[in-house]
Amino acid sequence: MVATILVGMLCAHLLCFALMFLLISKRLQGKRMGMDFFALGSLLLGFAYVLQLAEGGPAWSVMSVVNHTLTLAAPIAYWLGSMRFFGYAAPLWRPLIAFSVVYVLAQVLVQWSLGQAARYAMLAGISSLLFLGMTLTIIYGVRTFAKDLYAEMVIFALLISGICVLNAMKFMKILDGGLEALDMDSSFQMAFYIYMSSLATVIPPSIVWLVLRRLTDDLRDMAGRDPMTQLLNRRGLSEALKVFFNTRNPAPAHLLLMDVDHFKHINDTYGHQAGDTVLCHVADVVRNTARHGDLTGRIGGEEFVVICLDTDSAGVMRLAERVRAGIEEQAIDVAGTQHPLRCTVTIGVSRPFASTQALEGAMRDADAALYRGKEAGRNRIELPRTPHFHPDPHAGRATPCQRTPSEPAVLSDGSATHQQP
Ligand code: GH3
Ligand code: MG
Ligand code: MG
Repeated sequence: MVATILVGMLCAHLLCFALMFLLISKRLQGKRMGMDFFALGSLLLGFAYVLQLAEGGPAWSVMSVVNHTLTLAAPIAYWLGSMRFFGYAAPLWRPLIAFSVVYVLAQVLVQWSLGQAARYAMLAGISSLLFLGMTLTIIYGVRTFAKDLYAEMVIFALLISGICVLNAMKFMKILDGGLEALDMDSSFQMAFYIYMSSLATVIPPSIVWLVLRRLTDDLRDMAGRDPMTQLLNRRGLSEALKVFFNTRNPAPAHLLLMDVDHFKHINDTYGHQAGDTVLCHVADVVRNTARHGDLTGRIGGEEFVVICLDTDSAGVMRLAERVRAGIEEQAIDVAGTQHPLRCTVTIGVSRPFASTQALEGAMRDADAALYRGKEAGRNRIELPRTPHFHPDPHAGRATPCQRTPSEPAVLSDGSATHQQP
């Protein structure tokens, strides 16, 4: 009687959560995070337990064959759903249908050749292996694709390994004592149902928590990025900088502020769309040239920023020169123009700064240097006006890094797109 109530509650939980996962997946639309798979898994498991209630005890019937098949198809749906959650494009129906067909045939074969107890032992054995596989996948995930969800994954691994152990015990009991081990009111089965009911109560809300975490992380990431170039915006730069300065003994940072030269002319001559293509190209060069760990951002129309972390003034100058030269040298294919475009940037360098609060000051520093660079002819790197900035560690004084005076943005065949002011 108690077992029947427990299984009844388990069914109600699973069917309610199936509906909840379905509603969540409908809301998520394009990016369902595997919630539709979880809905199906819960539905299949809920129905499996409904059939078990209807069946009463071990029997050889279509209902029993369907029950066993659903019992195993459910964790497979959960497994595939987890892969979806972590961004892998796992298919759903084909593996489930293929598995179901094979398992129905296997049941018929085992029932006829080895008998009823062997069929139930097979169910417990394969369940145990499936949940072992899930546990191992989670342990692997903690070290690779799910590092950001360490605590949650460890708890999931513990809970799921419990189902693996219980099914392994059930398998051994059936081998030992036959079908009597499956008596619904036996203490082992009671423990089994209590454990499953507890999991059915704990796991679905935990999955909703994971979805919420991912969504809020995505939102935070979106709020910190420029949608066109995917570089950080002011907010993203400031937050990433906060993380850096919160580490132990961080070195001072330097800021490079760069502005595309004569960009208005590119817009006016080739259109806004072409201007956007040029901006994306500059963003790519900045991103690919910056060192791993540096922060790259776009903070205005055609203004880009690199915040160099863990380097000295000489390293900053080398990076600034690589960016400047990279942008000058690479031609940009723009739809609708016969020849690729080229553009240049002027870069202003800030003094070193050592806190997030000092970021605005560093911006002003770099902006002043940038302004001087524009005045002095563009396509050049301008240093801050300070006796403490030594681009070359062997040099005794700050020397502005003079570069070739700005060329106007030109077509790669050499024809100028505008007159230099
Ligand atoms: P300078 O060498 O002095 O920097 O000259 P400039 O022509 O680049 O002058 P300025 O920096 O004032 O020009 C910025 C232009 O960038 C003006 C604005 O129309 C354009 N712009 C701003 N945001 C975008 C954008 O997202 N896409 C495109 N295509 N253009 C933009
Ligand atoms: Mg500008
Ligand atoms: Mg400009």
